[in-house]
Amino acid sequence: AVHGVRLHSGTAPLPGPVALVLQDVTETRRTEDVRRDFVANVGHELKTPVGALALLAEAIQQAADDPEAVQRFAGRIAHEADRLGRLVRELIDLSRLQGGEPLPELVPVDVDDVIAEAVDRTRTAAKAKELQIAVGGQAGLVVRGVESQLVTAVTNLLANAVAYSEGGNRIAVAARARSGFAEIAVTDSGVGIPRKDRHRVFERFYRVDQSRASSTGGTGLGLAIVKHVASNHGGSVSVWSEEGLGSTFTLRIPLAITDGPTSDEPGDSV
Ligand code: ADP
Repeated sequence: AVHGVRLHSGTAPLPGPVALVLQDVTETRRTEDVRRDFVANVGHELKTPVGALALLAEAIQQAADDPEAVQRFAGRIAHEADRLGRLVRELIDLSRLQGGEPLPELVPVDVDDVIAEAVDRTRTAAKAKELQIAVGGQAGLVVRGVESQLVTAVTNLLANAVAYSEGGNRIAVAARARSGFAEIAVTDSGVGIPRKDRHRVFERFYRVDQSRASSTGGTGLGLAIVKHVASNHGGSVSVWSEEGLGSTFTLRIPLAITDGPTSDEPGDSV
C-alpha cells in the first residue's frame, strides 16, 4: 500500500461502496444532456489557446529588438500550439469513438502488450516528475478488442496518474481476470478526486480544478475517451478515489474466449 491506497493484487476485493460504475444506460442518458453543450464547449476550449497565440504573436512583433523576449514568446507559442494540437487530436478520437464510424473488428489482444505500450508512451512524463510506474498483476491475459484504442485508454489513465501525482510518488498498473473480464487497474497516490466530482470526471471537458488542469495541459477529454473505448468493447470503467490519498481507475474489457474457463469461473463455459 502507498499512503493507505490499496494496490490491487490478484485476489483483492473490489474497491468499496465509493466505487462508481458507469454503465451503458447512464451513458445514453448522459450523452444526450452533454451533447447539447458540446459545441459551445469546443468553441470555448479552442478560444483560449487561439487567443493566447494571437497575443503572443503581437508580443513578438513588439519585442523584435529583444532576442531573449522573442525566444521566450516563441517557446510559449510552441507550448500553446502543442496544447491546441492535442485538443484537436482528442476531439477527432472522441468523435470517431462515439458513433459515426463502425468499430473495427475485435481481435484477440494481449493485455501485457497494451500495458507495455501505454507505459512506454507515459515514460517521459513520468521521468520528468520522478514517478515510478510499477507493472504487476496477472500476465498473459487476452481480451477481444482494438489494440490501438485499448492502448489509448490505458495511456490516458496513466497520463492522468502522472499529471495528478506529486513528484517522487509511485504509480501502479496491474491486470487480473475476473468474471470474464480483464480488469486493468491504474493506481496513483496523488491528489485524489473530491466525492462531489467523482461521478462527473468522465464527462467531456469536466475538470475538477480548471486552473490545475490548465497547468497540467489537460484537455478534459482523456476520461471521456476512456469511457467510450470501454463501452465500444462491451466493458466499463470505474473510479475509486479518496481526496489526498489517490485514485484507482479500473478498465474492464471482456476476455477473449480461451481454451478453458478462467480460474475464477469454474465450469461456467458451455
Ligand atoms: P484532463 O485532460 O483535464 O486530465 P480528463 O478527462 O483526463 O481530463 O480528466 C478529467 C478530470 O478528472 C481532470 O481534470 C482531473 O480533475 C480529474 N482526474 C482525472 N484523473 C485523475 C487522477 N488520477 N487523480 C486526480 N484527479 C484526476
